[in-house]
Amino acid sequence: MKAIRVQSPGGPEALRYEDVPQPSPAAVQVLVKVEAVGVNYIDVYQRTGLYKVATPFTLGQEAAGVVTAVGSGVTDPKVGDRVAYTSILGAYAEYAVVPADRVVVLPDGVTARQAAAALLQGMTAHYLACTTYPLKAGDTCLVHAAAGGVGLLLCQIASRRGARVIGTVSTREKAALAREAGARDVILYTEQDFEAEVKRLTNGLGLQVVYDSVGKTTFEKGLNCLTRRGMMVLYGQSSGPIASFDPQVLSQKGSLFLTRPTLAHYVATRAELVARAGEVLSWVKSGTLKVRIEHEFSLAETAEAHRALEARKTTGKLLLIP
Ligand code: NDP
Repeated sequence: MKAIRVQSPGGPEALRYEDVPQPSPAAVQVLVKVEAVGVNYIDVYQRTGLYKVATPFTLGQEAAGVVTAVGSGVTDPKVGDRVAYTSILGAYAEYAVVPADRVVVLPDGVTARQAAAALLQGMTAHYLACTTYPLKAGDTCLVHAAAGGVGLLLCQIASRRGARVIGTVSTREKAALAREAGARDVILYTEQDFEAEVKRLTNGLGLQVVYDSVGKTTFEKGLNCLTRRGMMVLYGQSSGPIASFDPQVLSQKGSLFLTRPTLAHYVATRAELVARAGEVLSWVKSGTLKVRIEHEFSLAETAEAHRALEARKTTGKLLLIP
């Protein structure tokens, strides 16, 4: 079968389209014939070596498809079930083996493409807005990179919970998408000082929460946007990692909270995975959560997808179709 392999970390050219043996499932695994693969920013971190992975490896953390074989100890799911999964390495491939207790069966009416587009970023937006800082009416939040994959979903979920959403984006086209997704105000943070804009938009009161996936270029100013006892949720670093941080700053700026969450810890148990995925997929099915699939690439074109993502040229979701 074909797969995208990384022999050693590097730029997009490190992504090799290669022939590898088709895997077979161990006792507690299932074999998934992959129909759609989700591209996520974490794939860039793993390709470049910012997040360390033992080489060589098959990249990719998110896919949807059909179960074509199950291990001897697996009773659920069954051969023929339509499934999706996240956070298991090896998704950029025609087939992948996945622990049976990490897959979710797709509801009728949700396509493999929709599931591969919604699961990882949707569950991330879900835990950020519903669990890490459970937004409520009266809250104002800042969503950085509001037209990105997670960003568009987070704007929708946050505004549906009654919060006022302020988004940041780099272009006017992205601003229009963020507004459509529920951001009441959008700041072009490449042209405007977002700290000054947030203060103006909130009449100096500040925000209950900042959702920051950009990191290096936004983190410090984001702290200045928070109200007393507000929460900084740093969940990514698309502009690079933040410098080392003195916790005393949290006290000086208003007894702030800082958390650096990751999806794995919000879907750690089977029950939490099924509940969170179930809610996200039901919203997709009903149309309450709109997934924007911006572009589909073939597996052989994966490097092109990575170049576009890193160059900030994308909005919403990129898929690979094996
Ligand atoms: P996005 O679609 O959001 O793409 C990244 C966006 O970041 C760009 O489109 C761009 O938006 C913005 N950006 C700002 N500065 C830069 C820069 N210097 N280089 C590149 N991009 C920049 O990606 P994802 O939705 O896949 O992921 C968003 C973030 O969320 C990532 O940091 C990812 O690691 C993180 N994440 C974290 C999870 C967790 O559980 N902790 C889970 C899932 C994702 P603009 O042009 O508008 O500035």
